[in-house]
Amino acid sequence: MKRYIVFLKQVPRSTRVEIDPVTKTLKRSSALTQTNPDDLHALQAALDLRQNTGAEVVAVSMGPASAEAVLREALQYGADRAVLLSSPAFAGSDTWCTSLVLASAVRRIGDYDILFFGRMAIDGDTAQVGPEVAGQLDIPQVTCLSSIHEVKGNWLVADKKAGSLLQRVEIETPCAVMVSRENGELACPTLSGWRRAQRQEVIRWDEGDLQLDGKVVGLYASPTKVVSTDVPQTAKEIRWLSSGSSVAEIIDKCVDSLS
Ligand code: FAD
Repeated sequence: MKRYIVFLKQVPRSTRVEIDPVTKTLKRSSALTQTNPDDLHALQAALDLRQNTGAEVVAVSMGPASAEAVLREALQYGADRAVLLSSPAFAGSDTWCTSLVLASAVRRIGDYDILFFGRMAIDGDTAQVGPEVAGQLDIPQVTCLSSIHEVKGNWLVADKKAGSLLQRVEIETPCAVMVSRENGELACPTLSGWRRAQRQEVIRWDEGDLQLDGKVVGLYASPTKVVSTDVPQTAKEIRWLSSGSSVAEIIDKCVDSLS
């Protein structure tokens, strides 16, 4: 049986988030959360393809216990299984350590055909995790995937849109795809899906289950160090000109305001 693995991240619902002053990471426990929007498009792409291939769809998230909510949502949409990767050892991971954990989970799940990622998470904004997992597993990848046409044997035929450039690509499976929002509409979850999702088990794995040394992941193992974070300040000032101002005076005031 074919197997698709979809990665979903829990992100803050609003841009009004708090940063921990010591670790410089997001205070995830204090923020209202949602499933990263691109990841729902990745899930939909996997579910659409499942209709033709009969693959099993496994949803995976790494995060605190609250990240179970995004997996319940994935089950509600129709994912077959859900795995939460959660441990204090994973906290504060940058993209490199996140991809180490996700790649280890892929190895543990085993026998996969396509890994589905969102194009980018709206909180970290790096778009690095999908490509890094593909790199760690040494499999081919397509970024900015806008639509999937078909699976022909061991080949996936898909469109990639980068800016105004649309490319048709054929990629050998197993592979990883980073799905952008252009990949169609999201179906609505159904009431029966919601009921089924409440009963389904969410499997939990920590570093022991993934046979990972806890010292190679998390905040202190992360090569990225966030030194400081600032909210950009935009100061606006109105300067008034009298009706009798000459062109030279207007130019002077404009130049003055730019300096
Ligand atoms: P992206 O790479 O944008 O995510 C792409 C896709 O990967 C997602 O759509 C999803 O499908 C999948 N994915 C990502 N994370 C998960 C997850 N936890 N579980 C399941 N699927 C997932 N990290 C850096 O390496 N460099 C930085 O410069 C950096 N700056 C940061 C600045 C701030 C203020 C903060 C709070 C964090 C920063 N981080 C940085 C950490 C970064 O947010 C996390 O490492 C995060 O887990 C992954 O990066 P991302 O959000 O950019 O994901």
